[in-house]
Amino acid sequence: MFYLPPKKRGESSMPDFLQIERGSVELAVGQRYPTKKNLELRLKMLSVALKFDYNVGYSTPTLLTVHCWIEGCSWRARAPTLGSAPEFFIKSYVKDHSCSVTKRSSRSRQAKPDLLGKLYSEFVGCVGPTVLPCHVADALNKRYGIKMDYWKAHHTLRFARQLVAGSSESGYEDLPAYLYMIRRANPVTLIKLDVDEEDRFKFLFIAFAASIHGYPHMRKVVVVDATYLQGKYKGTLLTASTQDGNFNIFPIAFGVVDTENHESWEWFFKQLNRVIPVDEDLAMISDRHKSIKYAIKKVYPLASRGICTYHLHKNIILRFRTRECYGLVKKAASAYRLLEFNQLFAQIQALDPALHKYLVEADVRLWTRVYFPGNRYNFTTSNIAESLNNVLSPFRGSPIVQLLDAARALLTRWFAARRKNASLMKTTLTRGVEKLLESRVEDAKL
Ligand SMILES: [Zn+2]
Repeated sequence: MFYLPPKKRGESSMPDFLQIERGSVELAVGQRYPTKKNLELRLKMLSVALKFDYNVGYSTPTLLTVHCWIEGCSWRARAPTLGSAPEFFIKSYVKDHSCSVTKRSSRSRQAKPDLLGKLYSEFVGCVGPTVLPCHVADALNKRYGIKMDYWKAHHTLRFARQLVAGSSESGYEDLPAYLYMIRRANPVTLIKLDVDEEDRFKFLFIAFAASIHGYPHMRKVVVVDATYLQGKYKGTLLTASTQDGNFNIFPIAFGVVDTENHESWEWFFKQLNRVIPVDEDLAMISDRHKSIKYAIKKVYPLASRGICTYHLHKNIILRFRTRECYGLVKKAASAYRLLEFNQLFAQIQALDPALHKYLVEADVRLWTRVYFPGNRYNFTTSNIAESLNNVLSPFRGSPIVQLLDAARALLTRWFAARRKNASLMKTTLTRGVEKLLESRVEDAKL
């Protein structure tokens, strides 16, 4: 788990990931800017960060020159276009001032929240959901000595978030730095990032240390699922989770891939294999996606595979437009005894032969408890994955770093609450199991 390092006296409460070194706002000879406007924005950020102002010498479609507003000062920059392209590049730059700091800072450009938001998001820190306006104010003050009140910090953070959300590419650019921080905070966390030949994002896998430590104590039933991501990049979030002894969702690993296919699922299961070893007692539950079937067979040949009855039920409602048999199918899926199952299945056949045929073709070994070759305990549906997706759904349109950090924060919150809850128990069983036993003890006496 990614815990923040212990706070030292006198240190600010800034989250660690705000302190990522982002490069400098300084200009340098040879730097290229896509347009003149980009360069002008950068100059404004620089003057706000370094507390001075400049005057424009030439400003034409092919040339921009600026110099310090104090007459005779050496600070200046010259940036022409490259041929006829809209791209401007820094041809010459004198970065040192010969004027005095008190003099040059006596005239300063007004730093509005939109400019500060850009400065912050590009050169200072992340904008994840755990970042607060006070963090932004702290970080800008520490880095550039810029002071601001709460409301200005609030607006700055809002602009920074808009900028990051508006450019999902920058979300992926943030990824290596974020993963580095996660790994540095906890080396046990498993991370795998795959890029293509052109260094573009392909697949990501992450299993947080707390999940890796906890999984060996869980029942060997793993629910895998996929959910589409919104936003510019699209992509698909893959999850592997199980249920702990107290019937809580226990996330094991997350993956982000371009799309669900044989290659991406096989890649995900291969990474998952480092957390969940091949085991004949292992059961994998998923929807009926062909690629999941393919990948499980390939990576976990010994595991028994089950399909999620939740999706099966949804398909039944869609295809057969009958609610009548729905209850029967549910009962049949969760029946413990063959006799009980056969009776229910015969009833379904009598009521709706087409549905019966469909269920036979869906393979009873995959969707019924009775015929399932392994042990799926109470995991008759993959609603575990569904609820995990629901919790993360507000972040489905967010840049990838925000999504991952939401998952990390969720795990931290859940596991901390559960540890506290478990420590209050006086018996060796979990609270959920105690309750279950209490409710059954009377029946058992009969
Ligand atoms: Zn100067």
